[in-house]
Amino acid sequence: MRKKLIAANWKMYKMPDAARDFVSAFLPLVKDHSRDEIVLCPPYVCLPAVIEAVRGSQLGVGGQNIFWEKEGAYTGEISAPMLRAVGCSHVIIGHSEWRQYFGETDDTVNRKLKAALAAGLQPIVCVGEVLEEREAGLTQQVLERQCNLAFSDLSGLEAAPLIVAYEPVWAIGTGKTATPEMAADAHQVIRAQAAKAFGDETARNLRILYGGSVKPENAKALMSQTEIDGALVGGASLDPKSFAAIVLY
Ligand code: PEP
Repeated sequence: MRKKLIAANWKMYKMPDAARDFVSAFLPLVKDHSRDEIVLCPPYVCLPAVIEAVRGSQLGVGGQNIFWEKEGAYTGEISAPMLRAVGCSHVIIGHSEWRQYFGETDDTVNRKLKAALAAGLQPIVCVGEVLEEREAGLTQQVLERQCNLAFSDLSGLEAAPLIVAYEPVWAIGTGKTATPEMAADAHQVIRAQAAKAFGDETARNLRILYGGSVKPENAKALMSQTEIDGALVGGASLDPKSFAAIVLY
């Protein structure tokens, strides 16, 4: 059985005080919850506040991006060992907003994935098709390409901590959600690519999250699919009650 993981992607929202307030309100709501793993991914500047606030709880904390070099003259960038050093356990890589606005490619996703694994972070690699690709019947092809390139040059052992998030871009922040069946189909394509790259055992254990307008109202239907191993939640993770309702679906 794969343990589900529910991760919050706060994107570029919240100041450190608001992040601390979120954790104070959220922790009591999930204090009896042990079924799934919970990870908060705040903006970099909130990491120390959130890491301090979750200390002693079951919550993990992740970054929203990394650069692939360990250190160097890369103004404005943050490396995987830096996230580890402040206490992060996870990192989001290849989010569609990075692909759309900041020139992320399948190749940079692969470099970042290797850097995250080398530093001992659990990477959450995002893949997913845009609307035109879905409408043109290209979803499977796009997912195969994204996974194939992202997963290259890694052994099954190295890739064991990997987590993938299937995020159809047309469902992110739009209120549109993939049906549980659409998500399950996409997850099977991703798992098949993982089997090709890493072997059957790593693929069987790979957790594949769904992301795209997950809300308290649709969390149960999505999370009840055996192929869906959790959720990456944007907008609905900003409010402690709403995120707790998703976690407790
Ligand atoms: C995301 O940012 O990864 C995401 C899924 O956002 P939302 O839940 O707002 O669609």
